[in-house]
Amino acid sequence: MGDVDDHAIVIGAGVTGVLTARALARRFARVTVVERDALPQEAAFRPGVPQSPQIHAFWKRGIDSAEHLLPGVTRELADHGAHRLTVPRDFLWLSPVGWFPRVSGTADLTCSRVLLDWVLRRMAGEDGRVEFLEGSQVTGLLATPGGDGVRGVLVRAAGSSEPRTLTAGLVADASGRRSDATTWLAELGYPAPAVERYDAGFGYSSRYYKLPDSAARDWKAIYIQTSPDTPRGGVLVPVEGGRWIATLLGCGEHVPPTKDDQFLAYARSLRSPVLYEALREAEPLSDAQAFRNTANEWRHYESLSRWPRGFLVLGDALCRFNPVYGQGMTVGAMSAKAVADAIDGMDPARIHRDARRLQRVAAAQSADAWGLATGEDLRFPWTEGRPPGAMVKLLHQYMNHVVAAGNVDPATCRTIFRVFGMNAPPAALFAPSSVARVLGRWRAPTTSPAVTATPPPATSPG
Ligand SMILES: Cc1cc2nc3c(=O)[nH]c(=O)nc-3n(C[C@H](O)[C@H](O)[C@H](O)COP(=O)(O)OP(=O)(O)OC[C@H]3O[C@@H](n4cnc5c(N)ncnc54)[C@H](O)[C@@H]3O)c2cc1C
Repeated sequence: MGDVDDHAIVIGAGVTGVLTARALARRFARVTVVERDALPQEAAFRPGVPQSPQIHAFWKRGIDSAEHLLPGVTRELADHGAHRLTVPRDFLWLSPVGWFPRVSGTADLTCSRVLLDWVLRRMAGEDGRVEFLEGSQVTGLLATPGGDGVRGVLVRAAGSSEPRTLTAGLVADASGRRSDATTWLAELGYPAPAVERYDAGFGYSSRYYKLPDSAARDWKAIYIQTSPDTPRGGVLVPVEGGRWIATLLGCGEHVPPTKDDQFLAYARSLRSPVLYEALREAEPLSDAQAFRNTANEWRHYESLSRWPRGFLVLGDALCRFNPVYGQGMTVGAMSAKAVADAIDGMDPARIHRDARRLQRVAAAQSADAWGLATGEDLRFPWTEGRPPGAMVKLLHQYMNHVVAAGNVDPATCRTIFRVFGMNAPPAALFAPSSVARVLGRWRAPTTSPAVTATPPPATSPG
């Protein structure tokens, strides 16, 4: 390997790429993040992250993982106006069957996606070992002379027709949902991974509003979840710059509109009027922007019979989720941290050889979130993908009772939100103590009232 040994390449400067660069900089002398877009000097939209105008909440486990890799990042984000919410205490949160009590379950950071990306990128760039090569698209992988590994990438700079080569001991693909890794691997003679896909067909529509004076409110955010009988919902959270971002979401004929008057009419049609009432008097600061294409998709690179040394795929490039559950960035951050932990104490040459194990480590971070997102999506009869078996249907029944119990029992509610925030595994909902609490409240209603008008008041911290 020689002098390329001490250099790593990360493809893509999104959340996963930047945090992975930080993780690799602990073991490699240099890390180059190759990014197709020109990178703005401030928090601004760029085409490589087309989903960034939509709501992007960062769950507790993601915050902790990012903080581990970039100490001080939470403070930095808060200094730029990000909001730290206690969930569901700061929310009016309507589950499919009723309101959650206002207890503290987990934490959530809310700011615009462009602010989050910019702060992460700027902080990672302060590490002298991390360099950004912007306006440069990776077009393929370079094979090692023996063909059993990857030793770099082909990069085409904006405006240039000829790619140049960039060599490295490790290449990590964090190029997001449109990753070409499967094609690049095929060019080196590797098989295509099995792809699992579930698509409930959700569409999003998001719009910014001026944050009104808070005197009259005892809440900071709203979430009206969808339910199988009413597959339309809405979220409202505060973000930097004295703004709210309001997001409407739904599937099939319930896909939300972008036109001004229809946006409010849709908000009014939700199972509770609270979101509509909040927006009715608020001043819009932007038009609504739509996003479709929200399928769950896992490319199972970790299961391939052959895997090249020196190559890794993580983040959305590996596994993406229906965003309704807000998991993608947290899983990306968890993967970067898991890789950092796995390479602790290893020299770069060993990391190159150990890529297959690292691929499994990265993929394992998706498992819980995948189970939750696809399990919930399979409640909708129109969801594309392998239909639910008896076990999944049984789990749906049990989870109906868990959520119903969580509406009346603060302890169950806390566990549910620790699972949402990914600081507890879904198995926590099946622990004997949780099952006992759910069984004790088995009679709580598990069908959705058409409109649930009265959200609970704030409670004392607990
Ligand atoms: C509507 C919507 C709402 C969402 N809401 C949430 C939420 O609330 N919470 C949450 O955690 N997640 C949410 N997500 C998911 C989140 O957006 C993704 O999980 C996250 O962006 C993944 O980060 P990433 O770094 O892996 O990929 P991306 O953020 O997609 O970054 C990939 C980067 O790679 C670059 N790139 C691509 N190809 C190349 C190439 N060949 N060469 C060089 N560079 C390249 C791109 O320009 C881009 O900068 C949402 C997603 C959607 C669609």
